[in-house]
Amino acid sequence: MEKILNYINGELIEPISKQYLENVDPSIGLAYNLCPDSDAGDVELAYEAAAAAFPVWSEMSTGERSKVMLRLAALIEINNDALALAESVDQGKPLWLAKNGEIPRAQSNIHFFATAIEHYASEAHPMGNHALNYTLRTPIGVVGCISPWNLPLYLFTWKIAPALAAGNCVVAKPSEITPMTAYLFSKLCIEAGLPKGVLNIVHGLGPKVGSAIVAHEKITAISFTGGTKTGADIARVAAPMFKKLSLELGGKNPNIIFADCDFEKTVKESVRASFTNQGEICLCGSRLYIERSIYAKFKEAYIAQVKGLKVGDPLLDDTKVGAIASKMHFEKILGYIELAKEEGGTILTGGVAVNPAGRCSNGYFIEPTVIEGLGHLCRTNQEEIFGPVVTIQPFDTEEEVLEMANSTAYGLACTVWTENLTKAHRVAAKMKSGIVWINCWLLRDLRTPFGGMKQSGVGREGGWEALRFFTEAKNVCVKL
Ligand code: NDP
Repeated sequence: MEKILNYINGELIEPISKQYLENVDPSIGLAYNLCPDSDAGDVELAYEAAAAAFPVWSEMSTGERSKVMLRLAALIEINNDALALAESVDQGKPLWLAKNGEIPRAQSNIHFFATAIEHYASEAHPMGNHALNYTLRTPIGVVGCISPWNLPLYLFTWKIAPALAAGNCVVAKPSEITPMTAYLFSKLCIEAGLPKGVLNIVHGLGPKVGSAIVAHEKITAISFTGGTKTGADIARVAAPMFKKLSLELGGKNPNIIFADCDFEKTVKESVRASFTNQGEICLCGSRLYIERSIYAKFKEAYIAQVKGLKVGDPLLDDTKVGAIASKMHFEKILGYIELAKEEGGTILTGGVAVNPAGRCSNGYFIEPTVIEGLGHLCRTNQEEIFGPVVTIQPFDTEEEVLEMANSTAYGLACTVWTENLTKAHRVAAKMKSGIVWINCWLLRDLRTPFGGMKQSGVGREGGWEALRFFTEAKNVCVKL
């Protein structure tokens, strides 16, 4: 089987231990290549390479850094189809989604920060003619970036692009469940002429590689995207070391649907918001609150469309719902469907695993599942499932829906559907959520702050927020 390699000091190398983990194609349920089972020793090598590269990279002009990154962005574009195929096989997502959405977005992430850094400026605070304060924003040094399996290259590049653009050197760990596109990306870094050691990618398990990055005393900032529990573990280690921390964590996002919405558009977009990427996007809406006067009509139209979603081979053009990323996650989702039944929920559609005919008959597929009849405080409605499972519930008043929508420990994203914009703004203001979409979902402008409230995270990514995170502010006060 092909071996994925670590990317350290500009070279593709084996892990020190020479040990590997099986990397499974979830659509067929079989290992198809091997991922390094790296450990703290490999992280140390990566750190040393990054620390050695830092003086030159950080002092390069922003224009020169930008040029290298733009070459990298161009290479992603040229290799879009190959990267998309690798992402689809590795993660289980439909190929068309990777081709048209996620790999182009990875390209945009690099392109966006490569150009943003050329416009990044810092503040000056003159004190009349007594003194002048100016703020220097300098790169931090060697930073750690840890990303999850659901949008592998997209989320990986979303972190490393601002880190590199700001002049830091990076030790990064993609998820061991989906290492393939980060590996292909490391080859593109070599082709683009990224100086050695500027980016280092260490593959392996979270508790071995991820925790070694977090615990490394000289890696002084950590940008993490993943589950809330892992985020808490990371914070426990990093906080007493006074590291800068950016945590993008889980969600349990509500879709609030008022009777005066644009009905057809809301049904269609709610289906998309629920089941894109098998529901494995932290921004997917998994709790639908529907105003009672349209509940029956909405339910009927929504279920009809959900039943029409084709589940199966991610490589086929008409597949809408691909494979669940791993067997463990597949079993976790099925466990939540059982829990929903125990809690008194009624499965309106789906609720079972599927075995598509042909090459994917042993893959991990679950029918898009819609459940009703559950109270908003039960576990099914409070805990993140992160799969193709949603609940629907009626509501009567704005106050009631706000109470239900805000009732979880999470606060990442929500959608509000109404043609009454006054009401939409009022509800948006009262949602305890880092992102509110009104009459749309997943419409992204990379300049906007991205992140969650409550247990959905700490800090914001995107635009200047990300560049601020990856730099240290220093005020210089000059007496005039
Ligand atoms: P995990 O928290 O399990 O893992 C995320 C990353 O952290 C992986 O690379 C993982 O490695 C690594 N990791 C695991 N344990 C540790 C540790 N102790 N120290 C350091 N690193 C560690 O999340 P998932 O990969 O399961 O991703 C799904 C979660 O991510 C969901 O909760 C989802 O909501 C959230 N997410 C949040 C987003 C946001 O922007 N807020 C966006 C996308 C996803 P390994 O894979 O080897 O375990």
